[in-house]
Amino acid sequence: MIRYDLYINGNWQKPSSGNYFESDNPYSGEVWAEIAKGNEEDVNLAVIAAKNAFEEHWEPMKPTEKGKILVRLAELIERDAVRLGEIEVKDNGKLFAEMGAQTKYLAEWYRYFGGLADKVEGAVIPIDKPGMLNYTKYEPFGVVGLITPWNSPLLLLAWKLAPALAAGNTAVIKPSEFTSASTLEFMSLVEEAGFPSGVINCVTGFGLEVGQPLVDHKDVSKIAFTGSDISGQKIYESAAKKIMPVTLELGGKSPNIVFNDADMDAAVMGVISGIFAATGQTCIAGSRLLLHEDIHDEFVTKLVSVAKEASIGDPMMETTNVGPVTTEPQFKKIIDYIDIAKKEGATCVLGGKKYNGPGSKGNRFVEPTIFTNVNNSMRIAQEEVFGPVLAIIRFKDEKEAIKIGNDILFGLAAGVWTSDIGRALRMADKLKAGTVWVNTYRAVSYMSPFGGYKRSGQGRESGQECIKEFLETKSVWISHETSTANPFIIK
Ligand code: NAD
Repeated sequence: MIRYDLYINGNWQKPSSGNYFESDNPYSGEVWAEIAKGNEEDVNLAVIAAKNAFEEHWEPMKPTEKGKILVRLAELIERDAVRLGEIEVKDNGKLFAEMGAQTKYLAEWYRYFGGLADKVEGAVIPIDKPGMLNYTKYEPFGVVGLITPWNSPLLLLAWKLAPALAAGNTAVIKPSEFTSASTLEFMSLVEEAGFPSGVINCVTGFGLEVGQPLVDHKDVSKIAFTGSDISGQKIYESAAKKIMPVTLELGGKSPNIVFNDADMDAAVMGVISGIFAATGQTCIAGSRLLLHEDIHDEFVTKLVSVAKEASIGDPMMETTNVGPVTTEPQFKKIIDYIDIAKKEGATCVLGGKKYNGPGSKGNRFVEPTIFTNVNNSMRIAQEEVFGPVLAIIRFKDEKEAIKIGNDILFGLAAGVWTSDIGRALRMADKLKAGTVWVNTYRAVSYMSPFGGYKRSGQGRESGQECIKEFLETKSVWISHETSTANPFIIK
């Protein structure tokens, strides 16, 4: 059993409550770690540390030097990628085949934004007022709060932390209570990389006991949050009371749309990757499959024949395709949605229950599940399940595909499968989603902006532009006029 403390001001310290909570391995069901149960007092200590570090160390440091520390951190992540990946798997149950590669790749966010740290340039405006110099500069907020969910803790932290630091902010991190361990292990790399004490702090604990006080703290000037739309809404409401900017990366119910001119085999693989990879526990899950009526039956037959061969079991094994559900509440939620879909009249053509077969050690497995005869007004088509459950809806033409695709509260991502380039471009224009993939699915990069339309969020992560999410713009006016203007008239 490993016991993790809080990481505040460069020190590992016990929570002020003296209490710890347990973290289990979703595959085995065994408790393997104890995590410090932080509270408002700990949040306050972390924010004070981050504020002091901002004023005394991080703000005065040259941007080039900040960038070099970020690049050093990237190198350490690469060095320890396998170890970090193994901890992620132990704590959240996703496949090592994916998490090992993911931990290695997340170094790129620190390298990319490290490179950007000394390239944040303002502008000289060719202002329309004679005798006046006007320029803009970008300034960090100060202390930012970074709140992450359980499904990809280190990756989703990198999306926030790398640009926040490169922009010159200091940070207090609050990981999910279900998967805090990898973030805490990551803190030792932060120390080794040479960040001054207090620049990065981590307070573990529960949403209402740690997350909420972090959002409400008077010295926290910006929140970047990834999680459910329900928590996102609460955070947005709290932020409104302080008039504080937020970046919100929330849920999705993304359409994966297959036309009758698509390469069927490629589309089948794309649909599988969209819904069964990561046991469906991804915000970008292509959980609504829109199928052209001409290919509906043939496609469903092919899809079921591939999906039913998925190997379920130990996420550390290279041959496993579908791992356990990360948390007990999430497992119950998925089973509930399967029941709801059946009651709504959808037809279950694959799976549809808890998996008890070989390899189902910790009792938290759901069979890959496919429903046909879904209409878009059913709950199974409208609400985020966050599990390996696919809802299939028929459409007759492009116009109807766009209508159904957009008839949803969310707008995180969409997939389109077609061999007609004109159709691909029209669909990319018309779909109301922050990301549209054509003849591919689930591609993300540090170079490309990611975020949601509608209820899927606010703001963007990754790509050059996203550094502005962590910066204030200042406009500076300097007069070099020799005459004095009329003080009663605006300049
Ligand atoms: P969640 O909203 O329950 O929790 C996310 C984090 O917020 C946790 O750390 C939690 O402790 C904290 N939190 C909860 N209430 C809070 C409050 N009132 N104030 C401050 N913090 C609070 O989400 P989850 O179940 O951990 O994650 C799954 C959700 O995340 C899904 O909806 C998924 O779609 C979404 N997600 C979105 C993206 C994206 O980039 N858009 C990526 C991954 C996951």
